Amino acid sequence: MGVFSAQPPMPLYEYECQVCGRRFDRLQSFGDPPADTCPAGHRAVRRVVGQPAVHFKGKGFYVTDNGRGSGSGSR
Ligand SMILES: [Zn+2]
Repeated sequence: MGVFSAQPPMPLYEYECQVCGRRFDRLQSFGDPPADTCPAGHRAVRRVVGQPAVHFKGKGFYVTDNGRGSGSGSR
């Protein structure tokens, strides 16, 4: 038995500075205020959205070509 910490995964948000264009990401736990300062000190950042961390396999996510109705009833 080991150390098991039941912490929820912290979401990773990506920000982009509007001044220097630097991109950085910030781990934020629930309740943390959103980042509003660039690592260089600029206070004009905005969150970059549209980059999901999980990749779904498009059309092959749920394959149902397992011979449905092809008469394979031999158990
Ligand atoms: Zn900056």
